[in-house]
Amino acid sequence: MHYQSNNKTDKILTGDILQKALSGERLDNEELLILLENKDEKAAGEIIFTADTLNKRINSDKVSYVVNRNINFTNICSLNCRFCGYKRTKNSKDAFLLDYDKIIEKISEGVESIGIDEICVTGGINPELKNNPDYYFNLIKTVRNNFPKLHIHAFSPQEIYELSIMTGTAYAQVIEKLVECGVNSMPGTAAEILAEETRKKICPQKINTAEWVEIIKTAHKLGVKTSATVLFGHIESSNDLAYHLSIIRRIQDETGGFTEFIALPFISPKTSLGKSMDKIDRKDRMIDNADNDDIYRKEIVHEKKVFKFYAILRIFLDNFKNVQTSWPKIGVPAALKSLECGINDFGGTLMEENITKSAGGKFGEFLEENEIINLIKQAGKIPIRRDTVYNYIYKNNAMGSAVLAPLLFKEGCRPKADGVVHGKLI
Ligand code: SF4
Repeated sequence: MHYQSNNKTDKILTGDILQKALSGERLDNEELLILLENKDEKAAGEIIFTADTLNKRINSDKVSYVVNRNINFTNICSLNCRFCGYKRTKNSKDAFLLDYDKIIEKISEGVESIGIDEICVTGGINPELKNNPDYYFNLIKTVRNNFPKLHIHAFSPQEIYELSIMTGTAYAQVIEKLVECGVNSMPGTAAEILAEETRKKICPQKINTAEWVEIIKTAHKLGVKTSATVLFGHIESSNDLAYHLSIIRRIQDETGGFTEFIALPFISPKTSLGKSMDKIDRKDRMIDNADNDDIYRKEIVHEKKVFKFYAILRIFLDNFKNVQTSWPKIGVPAALKSLECGINDFGGTLMEENITKSAGGKFGEFLEENEIINLIKQAGKIPIRRDTVYNYIYKNNAMGSAVLAPLLFKEGCRPKADGVVHGKLI
């Protein structure tokens, strides 16, 4: 079922909708669609201004980030998502499946070199693991035994689905077992676009929308927080985006289990979907094909359109405190500009970002913490180190305590002996 616009679309002015949002009223799906469909540059500026105003009310000038490392344990995958440049077949020259020693080595490197607080663990749907669910459970146990304090953010809803099939148990049992092994939270990836018709076109073998929703709600009900994501800037329509965001907002109303919203612009150069999208399609959607000579820049979602979409997220998702930018996908300068478009989270250090790079992304795979701090300060914002579920972590090296202390902690929250404080942001 898709959301459909009607005549109201033509009658309501964007300005009225933005006033409504500023007055604290929730927008409905039709109003969301009007914002998405409005192609006027001046209106985009007003949308961004509104989002910035709302974000400042919620988060003032604080911009959070996480010191983390991605662990992509295999790139061998039996699925064929058309937007993906990461997957390999077993016989590909650069196919890999990491053993536990290698995974522990990578995590140790992250802990020792930059003091990571989180690892994010996901991989392809590797047919070699099809009869080996214990690979997943023991991976988590091994990490937990070696790193008792590390936050383990692991396994997408697609992987939970595969584990459920492999073990013949319900989603809830799979998630409970993973939590027993050491999982703390889950990425809300594999959402891509939840409008079923378009979803079938870009990732026909993936779990369907109902399955994704059920897995996410099951996790939330078990107390496992997840992120929420969307893949945008490909062949999706405004209706598809409105439908997707309305599902996400409804789940958040029901469970409150999403930590943040992450909008991921489609990186097309090395993907079959990117190659098949003709130039007319790109122009009509969110792709820049007119005002830049650089081939790569022609292939990515136009940054102005990214900013407008980020702003719309802040305005529509009134039950999300945190909306994250994506520096590996849009680049650091654009990520900094996005901090004026309703964004309050810079994402992570990452250390190893294989998925965007494999699709043709070229904005790097690692930013040091100090670099992130300096960049956020350059943007006139206050950098705040956080953990995965948005407990804010104060470390003496992040910023002067005189600046941070009054902003950070609720009463009774004091630094521990190691100079680290965990607490909710005021
Ligand atoms: S997006 Fe994930 S599931 Fe889809 S083909 Fe790529 S690695 Fe496989």
